[in-house]
Amino acid sequence: MSTAESFPTRLTELEVARLRADFPVLEQKFHGRPLAYLDNANTTQKPRAVIDAESHFYATDYAGVHRAVYELAERATRAYEAGREAMRRFLHARDVHEIVLLRGTTEAINLVASSFTRAHVAPGDEILITEMEHHSNIVPWQLACEASGARLVVAPIDDRGELVLDALEGMIGPRTRMVAVVHVSNALGTLNPVREIAEIAHARGVPVLVDGAQSAPHMPIDVQALGCDFFALSGHKMYGPSGIGALWGRRELLEALPPWQGGGAMIESVAFEKTTYGPIPSRFEAGTPNIAGAVGLAAAVEYLEAIGLERIASHEQQLLAWATEAVREIPGLTVIGTAAEKAGVLSFVMDCAHPHDVATILDREGVAVRAGHHCAQPVMQRFGVPATVRASFGLYNTREDVDALVAGLRTVVEVFR
Ligand code: PLP
Repeated sequence: MSTAESFPTRLTELEVARLRADFPVLEQKFHGRPLAYLDNANTTQKPRAVIDAESHFYATDYAGVHRAVYELAERATRAYEAGREAMRRFLHARDVHEIVLLRGTTEAINLVASSFTRAHVAPGDEILITEMEHHSNIVPWQLACEASGARLVVAPIDDRGELVLDALEGMIGPRTRMVAVVHVSNALGTLNPVREIAEIAHARGVPVLVDGAQSAPHMPIDVQALGCDFFALSGHKMYGPSGIGALWGRRELLEALPPWQGGGAMIESVAFEKTTYGPIPSRFEAGTPNIAGAVGLAAAVEYLEAIGLERIASHEQQLLAWATEAVREIPGLTVIGTAAEKAGVLSFVMDCAHPHDVATILDREGVAVRAGHHCAQPVMQRFGVPATVRASFGLYNTREDVDALVAGLRTVVEVFR
């Protein structure tokens, strides 16, 4: 994925123009300008297909799922379960029971960190993560370590923002119980060699959790080919609704996990003396789920499948290449994250202005970017910056969006330098 040529079937300009028309929010103007929405790593905009699927479901098929015999509830249950099946297909998982529908990546990682640690981690054991993790793949493990007496071990990254693979390998020892690694860094754009990491970890009998929040929307994902054991993602980052996402786990590993949250829907039978738990995945889906969210998620998956993830990846590689090249001309701008393998994230700092000021000026020019630590404070510390500006690309972005970003950055230079 290092070059745009890796994907010869790039979206054409005309196709992107047609796709943009699917997203009502892009019809608006901000500060008198068309919106260049470059905050896709934070969350993505929604196509009409997703919006309509949810509202149609509420209007015609909505009821509580499972545990009901009347037709409307059966319809709702089928629609909800279709969301699970769409996720299975999207991730190329073998078995639909391996898909747990949850609020998103954060909840998925918390589930594994909590349940896996209770079942398999003892005092003195180690959990290995990396220096480029999002807080949601750090803090749940810190909580789990506190509860279990385990130790958090952190594999380093180099000055380009690439994982130091030899160091990671050397850190996997006899006490390592889990390797938890981000697939694509939201702060740097680095694409990690997850398949290789899984091979290294599995050679020592250690399972691997992949935080796929930033990869799933931007490239084809095949969890079987990746060889990992758990994969977490968020619907809202892949053009689906917020409040819905999934955890994929290898069946035998999920079956070996104790329940996480307790409540309705996750049990087999309840008595004050003893409660028994349901099978996977319902064991991990306590309470009333985000039913319409699952419907919207299925619509998002269908939308992405119809375009083709490889073509989306190729398009975004092109945007990244254009933007990376263009910002070289901006005086005093330094890109943070220059890995050889990157997804569509461009993080940078400017010597003349704080990232928040840069983002404020860009906003006035209709360019929406994020400024801050991107929930990856250890990455900011690693690079010695308090924050970065981050432009992140999605399928509807265009050359014009990149040009608007670059023009906005020229204004920043004029104002502050
Ligand atoms: N992991 C990464 C790499 C992310 O970028 C994010 C969100 O920005 C998350 C995890 C958390 O995702 P969510 O807030 O949807 O649970």
